Amino acid sequence: MEEATYESFDPVFADLLDIDHPPELIGEGMTWTEGPVWMKDRLYFNDIPAKRMMIWREGHGVTTALSNSEFANGNTRDMQMRMISCEHGGRRVIRRHDPEDPEAIEVIADSYQGKRLNSPNDVVVRSDGSIWFTDPPYGINSDIEGYAAESEIGGCYVFCAAPNGTLTAVLTDFDKPNGLAFSPDETQLYVADSGAIRGASFPGIDYNLPHHIRVFDVNGTVLSNGRVFAEIMPGVPDGLRVDHGGLVWTSALDGIHCLDQEGHCLGKIRLPAQTSNLCFGGPSGTDMFITSSGMVWRVRSYRTDAAHAFPR
Ligand code: MG
Repeated sequence: MEEATYESFDPVFADLLDIDHPPELIGEGMTWTEGPVWMKDRLYFNDIPAKRMMIWREGHGVTTALSNSEFANGNTRDMQMRMISCEHGGRRVIRRHDPEDPEAIEVIADSYQGKRLNSPNDVVVRSDGSIWFTDPPYGINSDIEGYAAESEIGGCYVFCAAPNGTLTAVLTDFDKPNGLAFSPDETQLYVADSGAIRGASFPGIDYNLPHHIRVFDVNGTVLSNGRVFAEIMPGVPDGLRVDHGGLVWTSALDGIHCLDQEGHCLGKIRLPAQTSNLCFGGPSGTDMFITSSGMVWRVRSYRTDAAHAFPR
C-alpha cells in the first residue's frame, strides 16, 4: 500500500500540520466509508454499502453503532449537537436524537413538491438552524449504495430546509452536487460538483464533466455570484469542510487537498486510496478524521490555535 504522507506547496500548510507525524490509520476493513462526524468523545461514520454506522473511540477501536443504517451517507451536527444524517435508503434527511437508536429519528425532508428526493448525500447546518443538503442520484443509480429507482424530481438540486420545515431548492444547475460547507462568517457557500464520476466507481471519470467546487454569495436562502472556486484533480471533490481560518479542505482521489480562499492548493494529505470525506474533532476539536475507501485516518497534529479550530 502506498504510504500516507503530506505534500506541502506552501509554508502555511506546513505550519498547520506537524508534518513529522504521518496520518494514522485508525480503522480498516470496511467497504466504503463516509459521513465522519465527531460527537462528544467519539467519531461516528458510515460504511455505506454495508448499511452500517460505525463508532471509533480512543482505546476501543471501531465498533458498530447501527447494524442497519439504511445506506446513510453524510453526517453533521446541528446547533444542539444532535446528529443530522443523509439516508440513501429512505431518500431523506433525518435528525438522530440518539445516534445508536434507529428508532429515535425525526424526518427533516423526504420530498419536494410532492416528489421523493433522489438520495441526499451530504449536509451542513447554518447557525440559524437551517439544514442545507445536496441530492444527487448516487443512492438510486444502483442497489450498491441504496435501492435502485428512477428519479422523481428529475434534477439534482441543493436544498435548504428552514427550521419551520419549508424546503427551498437553492441551486438547480449542478450536475451532481455533493459536499458543501459555509465560510466561517456564513456569507459564502462552497458546493462540490462530482459530475465527472460516471457509473458507480472509479476509474469511470470523464474530466470533461464537472470535477470542481463552486462558491456562492449567501443572502438568506438566495445564492448569487456563483463561480468555480477550484478544479479538483485527480478524481473529484466529494466531502469538504471549511476551517475557522477559512481554508477549504476537500477530498479527492489521492487524499485531502487544502485550498486557500483563492482556491490555490496549499498542500495535500496524501492517502493510498480514493478519499470521500473528512471532519474535525477529537478531545480538543483539533484532530482531523478522514474517510477513505474502506479506511479511516486521523491527523492528530492539526494546529489548534483558535484561528484554525473547526467550527462544525
Ligand atoms: Mg458525498
